[in-house]
Formats: sequence, structure tokens, C-alpha cells
Amino acid sequence: MNTSALATQLSEQFGLSTEGLKLNPIGNGHINTTMLLRNKAQALVVQKLNTDVFPEPEQLVNNARLIEQHLTHKAASDQYQLEIIKHVPTQSGDYLIDIQGEKWRALEFIRGSYSEEVVQNAAQAEIAANAFGQFAAALQDFDAEQLYPVIPNFHNLSMRIATFKHKIAADVVGRVAACQNEIAFCFDQFSLADELDNLTNVPLRPCHNDTKINNMLFCKNTESAKAVIDLDTCMPGYWLCDFGDMVRTCCSPEAEDSTALEQVKVRHDIFHALVKGYAKPLTPFITEQELLSFWLGAKVLPFMIGLRFLTDYLDGDNYFAIKHPEHNLQRARNQFALYRDIVRHEQTLKGMLEQL
Ligand code: ADP
Ligand code: MG
Ligand code: MG
Repeated sequence: MNTSALATQLSEQFGLSTEGLKLNPIGNGHINTTMLLRNKAQALVVQKLNTDVFPEPEQLVNNARLIEQHLTHKAASDQYQLEIIKHVPTQSGDYLIDIQGEKWRALEFIRGSYSEEVVQNAAQAEIAANAFGQFAAALQDFDAEQLYPVIPNFHNLSMRIATFKHKIAADVVGRVAACQNEIAFCFDQFSLADELDNLTNVPLRPCHNDTKINNMLFCKNTESAKAVIDLDTCMPGYWLCDFGDMVRTCCSPEAEDSTALEQVKVRHDIFHALVKGYAKPLTPFITEQELLSFWLGAKVLPFMIGLRFLTDYLDGDNYFAIKHPEHNLQRARNQFALYRDIVRHEQTLKGMLEQL
């Protein structure tokens, strides 16, 4: 279907007049197809959900709407100050529509906002982390069990390790022999999974599970936080994982597929900003033990994503989109370099958590 026919179908379903109708890509998401549908008077974000990643899109929308309702309630009593990404129903009251077998939804467009792909500086990292902290704090009394596991075992390291071992044994594309160093390195880190499995006094929480900087919106005028977006992977989890994913995606000055491994390092000022920004809104709800568990998250997330890149490489690149045959291996090496640098600076970085 061409863009203009698609725009017409979407506008009919979501009740926009077709006068001056335009449909253009927006943002830089890697999972769904996100577009801005606008006419002279109105604008909507429309999103085609990736059903390879999310085989049950109805459950994804249901999860996001439950959170939306909870946050709306919190905002009404002044307990949540950020804007809320609200779903827009069709003329017949549905939140998910089918266009030629593909699933589309519509979200209110947050005007006057922009998203960043790369953290510019510590101040910006603190603003982003603080927004994710406000989001977590507003959900601390939301029953996480209401959320359907749209991707089961998403942050389950033991399960990721089991899959990794399975792919090594299968060696379907004959890459195992050339990856002995990386594989041995991974085996040496497996005690991280025991640490995660044996956590005590760290509660399961409603988590965002994708706390990258491009999953929040900044205000164009004030550069303050405007909204936390992309609730696709909201599921029960640990705050340490949301913290760890911020560390993973914000702290290195290099992109996650950079091969300049000597430059892949944890920037201490950014780490400190993330600790400060994320922990502040959580202060009324978090115990010392849970806060100190963030250190485990800072190690687990880079390692686990590295392990998943390597697993996908050994499996013939079925999951992550690649631009060249070595892409997943390079990403894995990059994440392991970041993990190593984090471990190397344990005393300083852990100290930042202990000081709070
Ligand atoms: P994905 O799941 O593919 O990452 P996102 O929901 O994160 O998709 O959206 C991709 C990008 O689209 C965001 O980084 C942001 O730039 C933009 N975007 C998404 N939703 C909105 C919205 N409601 N208002 C304004 N921009 C949005
Ligand atoms: Mg996103
Ligand atoms: Mg997403």
C-alpha cells in the first residue's frame, strides 16, 4: 500500500479529516515503525507494531493502557508531573487496528518535544535518569502482576545463558571455533546470574525495561524532561535493570557497535549523574539494599546484551538487524569492553551509590 492510501485509511479509522493530510516518519526507534499523521488542525503519532518482536500486540497495548490510566490518576493528584503518552481510540473505540495484516495504534503527539540519540553531557543524563525515576516512583504502587509478559524472561540472565549454551552446542553456522576467546570470557562471568537469581530483599517492580535516552522526550523550550515514552516492554522486573540499561546506553562515549574498543569506557561523571537523577524520586520508596543492588544492574546489563549479541552471531544473526556479517560480534565485543571497564572501576562507581 502506498503512503497516501495508508494515510487515508489511518485517518478514517482515527477520525482525522483528510484535508491536507500528511504521513511522515518520526524519531529513530529500532523496533516499531513510528510516523506522524497530521492534517491542518490535528497531529497523531501512529505506530505499526513489530509483531516479530511482539507476537501479542493486543497485550502490549493493554499493558501500556493500564499504565497510562495509573499515571493519569497520579497526575490528577499532583503525584506525576510529566506528560503521559495516551492512546487514541478509533471511531469504534478500538485501540489496535489491522491494515492488511499489520497492527497499528495511535498515540497523542507530544508537541514541542524532541528526543536525543546520544547523551550530550552529565546534565542531560541526570534529567533523563530523573524522568525515568519519576516514572518508576509513580508506578511503585501499581501492581506489576497486572502486566502481561509480552517478552517472557526478557531480563532473565540464567535463561539467556541457557540459550547461549544451546547455540554453542548447535553451532549452526560454524562460528563457534573462531569465537573461543569471547565464549570463554562469557563463561567466566556466569556467577552474575546466580547473584541475580539469589537477590534478597529486592522487590519485583513495574519496570520500563528499555530506559534508553531516546525513550524520553525533552522540552524544546526549556530542555527539561517532558515525557517517558515507549512503554512496550513494561513488565515486572527490578529497578536495578532499569538503572543498568541507562548505564549501558549512556555511559560510553562510543556507539554500541563501535570497534574503537580502547575508547569504550564508562564516563564517571555520567554514571554519577545517572545515580543522582534516578535515585532522587525513588528516595521515599527505596531501601539501602535495593539502592546498592544497582551496582549489579550496572554490570549485568552490558554483559547480558553483549551475551545476546554473541548468541545471535553464533545463531546466524536471526534477531538483531545487522549491516554486515561481523556486526553482532563487534557489538558483543563493544559491550564486553564496557562491562570490563565498569568492573575495573568498581570501587569508584560503587562508591557513588554508597555515598547516597
Ligand atoms: P520504538 O519502540 O520503535 O523504539 P518509540 O515508541 O520509542 O518506538 O518511538 C520512536 C520515536 O518516535 C521516539 O524516540 C520519539 O522520537 C518519537 N515519538 C514516539 N512517540 C511520540 C509521541 N507521543 N510524541 C512525540 N514523539 C514521539
Ligand atoms: Mg523506543
Ligand atoms: Mg519500544
